[in-house]
Amino acid sequence: MPSNHELFERSKAVIPGGVNSSIRAFRSVGGEPYVVESAAGATVTDVEGTTYLDLVQSYGAVILGHAHPAITAAVSAAATGGTSFGAPTPGEMHLAEAIVARVPSCERVRLMNSGTEATSTAVRLARGVTGRDRLVTFAGNFHGATDALLAAGGSGVATLGIPGTAGVPAAAVSETMVVPYNEVPELDDSVAAVIVEPIAANMGVVAPAAGFLSGLRAECDRVGAVLIFDEVITGFRIGHGGAQAKYDITPDLTCFGKVIGGGLPIGAVGGRADVMEHLSPLGPVFHAGTLAGNPLATAAGLAALEHLDDNVYIELMARARHLSSLLRDACASAGFDASFPVVGTLLGITCGVDAPVTNFDQAKTTDEDAYARFFHAMLAEGVAMAPGAYEAIFIGAAHTDDVIADLGERAARAAAVARRGTAQS
Ligand SMILES: *Cc1c(COP(=O)(O)O)cnc(C)c1O
Repeated sequence: MPSNHELFERSKAVIPGGVNSSIRAFRSVGGEPYVVESAAGATVTDVEGTTYLDLVQSYGAVILGHAHPAITAAVSAAATGGTSFGAPTPGEMHLAEAIVARVPSCERVRLMNSGTEATSTAVRLARGVTGRDRLVTFAGNFHGATDALLAAGGSGVATLGIPGTAGVPAAAVSETMVVPYNEVPELDDSVAAVIVEPIAANMGVVAPAAGFLSGLRAECDRVGAVLIFDEVITGFRIGHGGAQAKYDITPDLTCFGKVIGGGLPIGAVGGRADVMEHLSPLGPVFHAGTLAGNPLATAAGLAALEHLDDNVYIELMARARHLSSLLRDACASAGFDASFPVVGTLLGITCGVDAPVTNFDQAKTTDEDAYARFFHAMLAEGVAMAPGAYEAIFIGAAHTDDVIADLGERAARAAAVARRGTAQS
């Protein structure tokens, strides 16, 4: 079997940067990625036969752990009956019913293929429903690769219309206002929608401040704007009802992805019937997709949701707290400066920042070099974390108490190495 390096080099000859999602290239931590051969439960094994305890878990998509038997069986059974038809299926109805039954704000759900497609569809729908163009987003929130949502922000003041990446025309973000997270902006009646991660999980893990989400709800109601919760990470990870249930706020629209596909490509927009029925074919806002409601993805997603009972979430919460305290103790004893915030079942890591992070300006003071050292020290200990200093630490049903304890021991050794500053590159 060729080595990680050989396969990555060969991939680079045909795939830009050798990856199909840029963070996987290890650019922000240095070095080269392990190339995955297979995975099971809490572990991934690379093509060289090295097995890692995995804290990436497909960025949270495989909450039951890799190759969970229920998911594998559901996908195999579905595949036997054909992989895509271009006609309605019972499977998509079952998954939509499962979401509607668990998330009270979602009376209707439209299924699609990614979180990115969900956020772009929700934005189009909100603009179509209100007849307005202006979007309000929060610095440090991430909503996928949607032009209108790839606006730059984070200076601590509201900014309007600055593309956050090459290739996004100024016109695509000219109606996108980026404001600081955890501060309720004053809206006016030009605003079509406010889109927010109700728990921010792409700038470390940042809880919503008291009054933030309820303040957004009230401001949106005051000016007639649509409140969109981007629950692509938090949906079915925080609990059955997502962050909206935890904080008891009812958004107009919710974006889903990740967990609801059981590890297969998926996205969804859910919301009140009167809003959702503006989507085609009932209404004037276009949405379509060749593979939308894909039978493999809906079978996997349904199997995942059916497996996620209250006990799983209670266990996940306890394990997130336990791992947080083990990691905190490991780093503290080694003199390595890192904090491990927990919000419900979500666990984050922030290196070199004193106070709890509440917004993007604070998040950006993260010591990225320190994270890179810890990342590589953990990798050397056989623990795979996300190769970026702002990603969450994803645990799931496969991270049993034994795995958590093992992670704590490996982290103690890794923190000592990271403290000595022996970064690999
Ligand atoms: C992952 C993510 C997305 C994008 O989902 P994809 O399936 O990668 O397109 C959108 N919003 C949030 C909050 C995410 O974490």
